Amino acid sequence: MTSNGLDLAFDREHIWHPYSSMTQPATIWPVVGAKGVRLQLEDGRELIDGMASWWCAVHGYNHPVLNAAVTEQLQSMSHVMFGGLTHEPAIELAKRLVALTPDGLDKVFIADSGSVSVEVAIKMAIQYQHARGKPGKNRLLALERGYHGDTLGAMSLCDPKRGMHHLFSGILPQQFFAPAPQTSFSNDWNPTDIEPLRAQLAENHEQIAALILEPVVQGAGGMRFYHPEYLRQARGLCDEFDVLLIADEIATGFGRTGKLFACEYADISPDIMCVGKAITGGYMTLAATLTTRHVAETISQGEAGCFMHGPTFMGNPLACRVACASLDLLLSSDWQAQVQRIETELERGLAPARAFAAVADVRVLGAIGVVELHEPVNMKVLQPACVERGIWVRPFGNNVYVMPPFIMNNEDLATLTGAIVEVIQTTC
Ligand code: PMP
Repeated sequence: MTSNGLDLAFDREHIWHPYSSMTQPATIWPVVGAKGVRLQLEDGRELIDGMASWWCAVHGYNHPVLNAAVTEQLQSMSHVMFGGLTHEPAIELAKRLVALTPDGLDKVFIADSGSVSVEVAIKMAIQYQHARGKPGKNRLLALERGYHGDTLGAMSLCDPKRGMHHLFSGILPQQFFAPAPQTSFSNDWNPTDIEPLRAQLAENHEQIAALILEPVVQGAGGMRFYHPEYLRQARGLCDEFDVLLIADEIATGFGRTGKLFACEYADISPDIMCVGKAITGGYMTLAATLTTRHVAETISQGEAGCFMHGPTFMGNPLACRVACASLDLLLSSDWQAQVQRIETELERGLAPARAFAAVADVRVLGAIGVVELHEPVNMKVLQPACVERGIWVRPFGNNVYVMPPFIMNNEDLATLTGAIVEVIQTTC
């Protein structure tokens, strides 16, 4: 029991945390509040949050405008089923998504988490191919080093080695994989980089419903920034081989990379797009899968006569309302300037780490900063050392990375990056 009555022993004994062990639980830190860019720990310490709660809290925590949106929505209804009913928050959110996302994406399925929106995208692609008389096109093509979520369908599309597919063999759908793009975002485009993808499509397109990828930034599978030309050519190959393109913008969407959507770097429109995470400014779980009129109409004219998905909490009004408020807040701010400023400060602040023997690479794109180490991070050492220095980061694999709230000022960014550099220098 902590001084505030938090029962940490119960937490340890009974609660799974993300990717956690029940026999050797890692340290966890109790949080009692969050405001602006700071997390308030139960023992009174404050941490500058470098993670924006895994890409979500772009406006910071406890924002008066978002608080007001939730409070106001609570007065009318927090939830109603979406089957046979509709409401203003869902309509307003869909209007915004149709307007903001790349051209042609004008049919919106509101899902309850990123992984679910990926499942929905998979099912859309497969129902589409079935409806047009191509039931053999029922597998997906994904990229190595990709990450698309933790549910079984989404997991089948994650990097096959890092996703530990073998543990779930027999139940996990077997998908096709192409090697990860090799030309980095800022290097000169190497035309041979697209060849393995072309080869995969040439060989297997008759079995492939869709190619799924994270545009430009491969997130949890390695924090890799690849060349937009790869994405542009991937779009062309999908057309050439009669395969849909699914863009997973769950992490990259809503300004994080410096564009509203990372697809804009290649000036392409996917056939299906998943968005989530920052959509509610980190207030509630919500995601969406958008598709084109053509895909939607084809599905609707198929055997089932409808799209076969409908979760209980679909279109939750509280989540939709706060998403509208968050998107309005984003668009009324000078988010491009904020993201560019963060990019400059992350680059400046993390650059000294390039000199360390333990560091393989330092890279920054938009409001994303990555220090890649040669060896996997020792979380037991590194994370407490960060907390001691007043910052919150959650390294993964070989990467210490940050994606701060867009409102973080330069002083806090300097503290964040300075502490990261110091911790890597002293512990790695
Ligand atoms: N796709 C991408 C690119 C992601 O980064 C994530 C979450 N890390 C997901 C899908 C899954 O989203 P969720 O955790 O909300 O299910």
